[in-house]
Amino acid sequence: MAGLLELTAYELAQKIRSREVSAQEAAEAANERVEAVEPEVKAFITTTPELTLARAAEVDARNGNLKPWDGVPLAVKDVLSTRGVRTTCGSRILENFEPLYDASALVNFGENLVMVGKANMDEFAMGSSTENSAYGPTRNPWDLSRVPGGSSGGSAAAVAAGEGWWALGTDTGGSVRQPAALCGIVGLKPTYGRVSRHGLVAFASSLDQVGPMTRDVRDAALLLQAVAGHDPHDSTSANVEVPDYLSELEGGVSGLRIGLVGEMMGEGIDPGVREVVERIAGELEEAGASVGEAHLPHQEYALPAYYIIAPAEVSSNLARFDGVRYGLRVPAEGVHEMYRRTREEGFGDEAKRRIMLGTYALSTGYYEAYYGQAQKVRTKIIEDFRSAFSQFDLLLSPTAPTVAFEVGAKVDDPLAMYYQDVCSIPANLAGIPAISVPGGLSEGLPVGVQLMGDHFTEPLILRAARAVEEVSGFEYEMKP
Ligand code: GLN
Repeated sequence: MAGLLELTAYELAQKIRSREVSAQEAAEAANERVEAVEPEVKAFITTTPELTLARAAEVDARNGNLKPWDGVPLAVKDVLSTRGVRTTCGSRILENFEPLYDASALVNFGENLVMVGKANMDEFAMGSSTENSAYGPTRNPWDLSRVPGGSSGGSAAAVAAGEGWWALGTDTGGSVRQPAALCGIVGLKPTYGRVSRHGLVAFASSLDQVGPMTRDVRDAALLLQAVAGHDPHDSTSANVEVPDYLSELEGGVSGLRIGLVGEMMGEGIDPGVREVVERIAGELEEAGASVGEAHLPHQEYALPAYYIIAPAEVSSNLARFDGVRYGLRVPAEGVHEMYRRTREEGFGDEAKRRIMLGTYALSTGYYEAYYGQAQKVRTKIIEDFRSAFSQFDLLLSPTAPTVAFEVGAKVDDPLAMYYQDVCSIPANLAGIPAISVPGGLSEGLPVGVQLMGDHFTEPLILRAARAVEEVSGFEYEMKP
């Protein structure tokens, strides 16, 4: 089955539709690959080999009438609810939680979703290395001593290792794009509201988005096509028509105005990363784009504002995990003691740190100084983008400041870990779409370049990302 594993998701889907390959053959190939590499990579919290085969059999039994993405095995981040399949969010507190319904993003995908399993992640999606998982760290398939990034590190590693053809992750501050960058794959954070959040266990509701993580840009377009759309179950879901994301992919960058973000190319960004981004900028110019320097004057305040707003929303969203309604309950004398012990034992250190930061930022007397101030900064950042997009069609930057780092290197330094998202967080604060696409290598490890566009310009950023793929010469190669 090695042959099948070499195909992109798009190519495999075409062969399944034309019945050249059965969905069951694909599912078997995925299961075999999982068995072979999972002991080293550890991309999944839960694998579902029987369900994978059963769903594939349903696809084959449908006898035609397949959607362009049907039958291609998918890894699903363990923060998306899956009916009857435990959904832990990387936390002990949800160790045995089985949702009663599927997340809308999966429902949109279609009836016969062939899922490989539930991918590992930082607890409740808080982190940049997947080391904050209660189920142990995932390894980077490019170098097993390094992290895959996070929080969707399991999804990224699964795709890089060929454990399934593609994956869904979620991105609140960079969690689709940064692990995609560190694992040499494509990761797209759609416009806020483009993909339903119903059934996505909330981290920071005003920032969370579901996004595709794939082998190449065409696969990202196809997976976005599968999951995008309006959903009456999510009041923040956008009632905006879903365009054809595949039709403009080969349009090239000729005539596009691309702004290289000055504030994301200076201190704190590894020289090797900067070099790759500069080289891509030059090559896009040769391909016909006009490249200039763009400015986001409030960039230095994005990270601090995010680390008020996101923890504030966490402190509220995670209040529901109290031992009464979901998951773990640690019995104790009296209800308050039961709450206390359940949350003490159920949450890991980073979740506790964020709950405390958020509760503090929202408390009487501090609310205006912290949360109120952070919201004002958020408005400034939105205005920065508005003005940048009046000059440029797209903005270009690194996705992450470094390549993949060693497991353990940043676990004791939360600020260094938070800094991983310095280039990705602004897009979440503004709600705009952004993609990470491999641009080349530094120190033998993949570097992602980020393209950001105005709201609902996914067709444009996919088209430019496709051009990056073309000029970079980087091709997906299954690891390890
Ligand atoms: N690393 C960032 C954080 O820890 C972003 C995580 C995410 O996008 N889910 O909050």
